[in-house]
Amino acid sequence: MTDKPKSHGRLAMRPTLQPRSLMDAPELRGSWVAKVITLFPEAFPGVLGESLTGRALKHGAWRLETIDLRPFGEGKHRNVDDTPAGGGAGMVLRADVLSRALDRAAEGTPADRARWPVVYLSPRGRRFDQATARRWSRAEGITMLCGRFEGVDERVLEEYGIEEVSLGDFVLTGGEIAAQAMIDATVRLRPGILGNAASTEEESHASGLLEHPQYTRPAEWRGRPIPPVLLSGNHAAIEQWRREQSEKITRERRPDLWNKHESGD
Ligand code: SAH
Repeated sequence: MTDKPKSHGRLAMRPTLQPRSLMDAPELRGSWVAKVITLFPEAFPGVLGESLTGRALKHGAWRLETIDLRPFGEGKHRNVDDTPAGGGAGMVLRADVLSRALDRAAEGTPADRARWPVVYLSPRGRRFDQATARRWSRAEGITMLCGRFEGVDERVLEEYGIEEVSLGDFVLTGGEIAAQAMIDATVRLRPGILGNAASTEEESHASGLLEHPQYTRPAEWRGRPIPPVLLSGNHAAIEQWRREQSEKITRERRPDLWNKHESGD
C-alpha cells in the first residue's frame, strides 16, 4: 500500500548533463493535469489511455495523477466510510479522510479555483456540458473527487469550496466513469491533442448546434447513395447543405438547444 499519487503515462526522460527541474522540461511546461481522488485508482487511465487521449498522455501533453483514497483511511483497516448520521441505507465517505486526500491533491496547485477547479462528481451537481469542458481546458489542471456508496460528508464540500458537477440525470455507482468522461471532453480541447484542430470548432455543441450527418466510402452502400452534393466539389453548396442539416437535426432532436440558438444566447 502506498500513499504516493500514481502518475499515468510516461515521458521519455533523456539523461542530460545540466540538471533541471522537471517543470522546466519543455515537454511538461503547460501540460494540463488531472488529479483524481478515488478508491479505485486501477480504473485509470481506463479508456483515457486509448487513441488520441492515450497518445497525448504518453507524450506528456497532459498528465493524470490518481490519488488513492484508501491510505488516508482511519485505523488498521484504513476505513474511509461510516454510516449516515440520522440513519438510512449505505455508507458515507468521511470528511476527515477526504480532507487528507484533498490536502495532498492541493500540493503544488494554485488556490485560485479559476486556475485550478476542484470538483466533486455528483448527480446533484450542475450538468457538465461543452462550455464547462472549454472552461476547464483553459485552466492549468483540475482536481476531481470521485464518490462511492451514498456519497461524501457535506461538510467537506462546504469547507473546500468544491463545485458539484453531474454527468447527467442518472445515478452511477461511483464517480470514476463520470471523471473519465469529463477529462476526455476537456483534454481533447487542449491544443495539440487532436490531429485536426479545426474538428473541435465544427463539431456538435461547439456552436450550439448538433453536427450534420457524415459519410465516407463506399459511394453507394445497400442501395443508399451518399447525398450527391457532398461529391459535387462545390464547397459553398456543401457548406450550405451541412448548415441546413445541422439546423434541421438540432430543431428536431433538441428544441431546447434550438431555442437557445435562435434567441442568440
Ligand atoms: N446518494 C447519492 C448518489 C450516490 S452514487 C445521491 O442520491 O445523490 C455514488 C457516487 O457516484 C457519487 O458519490 C458520485 O461521485 C458518483 N455519481 C453518481 N451519479 C453521478 C452522476 N450522474 N454524475 C457524476 N457522478 C455521479
